[in-house]
Amino acid sequence: MNILISGGSGFIGSHLCKKFLAQGHRVICVDNFITGRKENVEDLITNDNFKLYEHDISEPFFIESDIDWVLHFASIASPKDYIAYPIKTLKSGLLGTHNCLGIAKAKKAKFFLASTSEIYGDPDIHPQPEEYWGRVNSIGIRSCYDESKRAAEALTYAYYRQHGLDVRVIRIFNTYGPNMQADDGRVVSNFIVQALRSQPITVYGQGDQTRSFCYIDDLIAGILKVMGAYYYLPINLGNPAEFTVLELAQLTLKLVGANSGIEYFPLPEDDPKQRKPDITKAKEILNWQPQVSLEQGLKNTIAYFKSKI
Ligand code: UDP
Repeated sequence: MNILISGGSGFIGSHLCKKFLAQGHRVICVDNFITGRKENVEDLITNDNFKLYEHDISEPFFIESDIDWVLHFASIASPKDYIAYPIKTLKSGLLGTHNCLGIAKAKKAKFFLASTSEIYGDPDIHPQPEEYWGRVNSIGIRSCYDESKRAAEALTYAYYRQHGLDVRVIRIFNTYGPNMQADDGRVVSNFIVQALRSQPITVYGQGDQTRSFCYIDDLIAGILKVMGAYYYLPINLGNPAEFTVLELAQLTLKLVGANSGIEYFPLPEDDPKQRKPDITKAKEILNWQPQVSLEQGLKNTIAYFKSKI
């Protein structure tokens, strides 16, 4: 198949590019490198089945070749980055999704949207099933991400209803692993890099807020299953094992073997207090569930960052 991935040099996109090439597909990677890194796909550039376009997907993109799948992963996805670039974040969620849908429609391709658990906002239902509509502050500092992803879902289902486009939508819960950026500000990368540098771990708030951390290999396996399934509604992909941020800090210090301690900082505005996916649908429809424990995934990620910093 010919597979177009927007955001193909980002954290998740780069793993997908590698996977599809290994399966013998041709990959067209579109990225503007605002948060994605060329380094993540450097070893693919000599592969004849891989084509890299430096392009901002919020601008129209035209391509001659046939396309079988369009996967829209381009997004500024870390709170630190999307708060710094709110307009670009909105544009990739709104205009980028529209452009990718347009390509899929023109090429009669299937469309895949990488949506997010952030569409649930700061949830008052726990764990979050796909039927939950969310609790989002439409004008808060996270709204550029949350609302553009919500609109991206709305656009996707508008194309499904109006044009009969074949669509898949996943809602990704906190995912971590190799190819994350050391300075993207997310909790796992921050904590590992701080521990490796013998710096204190920066916990925001009391650290009693929870997240559920999915290792990248598990997420990639889930994405491949969603692509192969005949199911067009959104599916949560994430690891339901829930941890407080403080537990993550302590585990990271232990696994790195650091004793740099913990420093507390104010909790950022609208930071969700709890997050954990209900993955009943993924289990039933895809026969998928995460296999990698937090401890094992952290060990792999620590080894990656050790080689990078
Ligand atoms: N967090 C933290 N210290 C950090 C970075 C993040 O305590 O150095 C917290 C953050 O406030 C949030 C959680 O860790 O409660 C996850 O943050 P992240 O930026 O990874 O993503 P989010 O799940 O909020 O989108």
